[in-house]
Amino acid sequence: MYSIDDLLPLSALQHIVFCERQFALIYIEQIWAENRFTVEGKILHERVHEEDLKKRGDVHIEYGISLRSLRLGLIGKADVVEFHRFPGGSWLPFPVEYKRGKPKADDCDRVQLCAQAMCLEEMLGVAIPNGAIFYGRTRRRLNVSFDEALRRDTEETAMKTHALIESGITPKPVYAKRCGRCSLMTICLPKQIQKKRSVKDYLSRVIGEL
Ligand code: SF4
Repeated sequence: MYSIDDLLPLSALQHIVFCERQFALIYIEQIWAENRFTVEGKILHERVHEEDLKKRGDVHIEYGISLRSLRLGLIGKADVVEFHRFPGGSWLPFPVEYKRGKPKADDCDRVQLCAQAMCLEEMLGVAIPNGAIFYGRTRRRLNVSFDEALRRDTEETAMKTHALIESGITPKPVYAKRCGRCSLMTICLPKQIQKKRSVKDYLSRVIGEL
């Protein structure tokens, strides 16, 4: 169990799944920069929080609910939590996260949503089997099942965020396709640093062979 002072933002999970160096630059070195993707994402989230629809049939909708898990060591907010009414009158939470783009190749969005569900489970003492991610580009909701594998991934990712913060070490950059979408590209300089490293490695190898 973590203490209140040790809690990390839920959004950190998304960053560490995307790139460990990006996570470290933001949460260890306190560096942040916006790009088109981050600004569009922010606007979408603001719009969601301005919504005031509260009820849709047997669904009650809450916006911007505060979340916390001492077990995972996370704190944050849910964009939307729908409460679905079941026969007998009980209400089951169903978290919905809003994203600007389209479904991604990595699991960062699913892990973040699962962490929200696990926070709600700890806070409300209920089991939450499903949630959804709404993607702005495709205008579609993708249903997410919180199965064993996703829960394990989420727990391991949360543990990794705390371990990396504790180490205080920012990993070296590894240039990849994702760098093109990263708002920290001009600060991180992955291509340049990697090139410098390979020249340095080459020189030390050659000198070592002499
Ligand atoms: S530019 Fe690439 S390596 Fe650097 S932080 Fe972003 S994703 Fe990671």
